[in-house]
Order: sequence, then C-alpha cells, then structure tokens
Amino acid sequence: MTCGACCTQYRVAFHWMESDEVTPGGVPHQLTEVLDPHRLCMRGTHSKPVRCVALDAQIGVYSRCTIHPNRPSVCREVDASWEYGKASPQCDKARIAYGLDPLTLADWRWRDEAGNDDGHPDDNGNSPSSPPQAPVAA
Ligand code: SF4
Repeated sequence: MTCGACCTQYRVAFHWMESDEVTPGGVPHQLTEVLDPHRLCMRGTHSKPVRCVALDAQIGVYSRCTIHPNRPSVCREVDASWEYGKASPQCDKARIAYGLDPLTLADWRWRDEAGNDDGHPDDNGNSPSSPPQAPVAA
C-alpha cells in the first residue's frame, strides 16, 4: 500500500532464536541489536525516533522491507487493516501518525480483479497493456 508507517512506529523485538546466527534463513544478525538476555530488536527500533534499518521507504509514497523473506515473526503478525477482513489498531495508529487515513475494505478491492493492470502488485506483467517482456534464452 506504499505505506511503511508501521516500520517507523514500534519497537521490533523478537527471540534471539530468530537470528540467522542460529536459524538458517533467519533475521540478518547484523541488522539487530541485543535488547535483553532473551530478545533482539531490529536496529533503529530500540529508541525514538523509530525507523527500522531494513525499511526502504518514503512513507505514503513507496515502501519496501529489504529483508522481507527473512523479516521477524512480529512483523508477519501485524496485518494491514482489512487486508484479511479486520481492522488492525497498530496499522491505523501508525498511518494516523503520518496524517494518512486508516485503510478500509475498499482499499483492497483491486484484488477482486487480479491482473487488471491497475498498478497493483497482482499485475505481475501479465496483463494486456504491460510492456512486452524480452524472451528468455533457453
Ligand atoms: S524488518 Fe521489515 S517489516 Fe519488519 S519493521 Fe523492519 S522494514 Fe518493517
């Protein structure tokens, strides 16, 4: 949703077992710091102003988690409001902090017509007006 606000509002803390130092494919340990004997946190989220070191974003314009496949469990648990049929108080609070309206069910209607080339991630270059893709050599 080009947002990223939640990655600048909350401390992102998780058990040290999620680090890639002990769990292959886990959270890159160089992007974390020790919070207490049991927990790590993402660098940039320990104290205010909060901004996760893994976030590449201009809030409300574009947003990308640079470690998305390896992000901590707590990040996976914060849904965007109404993405899965219910509001998320954490999402709403983070967006409001930037003057953005909370998401509504209507913000997800683009998924009803997958691949309709409306600029959403479901387009995947497969819709009729997408630029032609260069053939891939065998
Ligand atoms: S790890 Fe990724 S999803 Fe989690 S707070 Fe950082 S940028 Fe956001």
